[in-house]
Amino acid sequence: MTRERSGVYVWVTWLSKLMAGETTCQWSPWFKAHHTDYSRVPGNFQLAAWTAEHTRLLDEISKEREKFGETIYREGQNKFLAKRPSGLAVAGTPDLISMESESVHCTVFDIKTGNPRQSDIIQVALYMMFLPYSTGLYKGKKIDGCVVYKTGRSEVPRQIIDDKFKKNVTYFLNILESSIPPSKLPTHTGCSWCDLTIVDCPERVDVEETVVNETGQDFPL
Ligand code: SF4
Repeated sequence: MTRERSGVYVWVTWLSKLMAGETTCQWSPWFKAHHTDYSRVPGNFQLAAWTAEHTRLLDEISKEREKFGETIYREGQNKFLAKRPSGLAVAGTPDLISMESESVHCTVFDIKTGNPRQSDIIQVALYMMFLPYSTGLYKGKKIDGCVVYKTGRSEVPRQIIDDKFKKNVTYFLNILESSIPPSKLPTHTGCSWCDLTIVDCPERVDVEETVVNETGQDFPL
């Protein structure tokens, strides 16, 4: 049953999709940042296929990095939480972090089994940005990133975290932290990607959108 959180909690994937403009209904991540134990739309058979593919790719990268003599940390070992002075918490779990021995350099890898999206790069950049604030292990380290797709890799150099990027992170964190909820934007496409149910969002649209004025009208030009 849905409960209000004691503090605002932001999962990195909510923030990355918001920053990339892939989540158009800002109410959804805002609600999740302020509430817990809410009902979720159940996954489907595709999730099982995704999990197997993800595990295989993760295993391949792990073996590759180990061959280079790097120390690797996988999934649950990488769960982190960083706090804003206001108390807002940002949390995430990078798929894999490899650390070069006797070096200050490490790389954050994230595996994606779907088509490349802008949010993939932003997600890894956010991991790189927040990790040094979570545990002493990454303090002072030079952190680069890499998104691994079935079809290739996208490097995420540490230079991506510049003042402009930080300003955008601040802007969207402020939206999620605000006590005033953003407006809902129910659309067929947006709601089909949203895991909130009608229990918490009665406006959820689960049927094909009706195209208004499908036949069009003449305009005088
Ligand atoms: S179900 Fe639709 S309207 Fe409701 S929060 Fe999700 S995206 Fe927004």
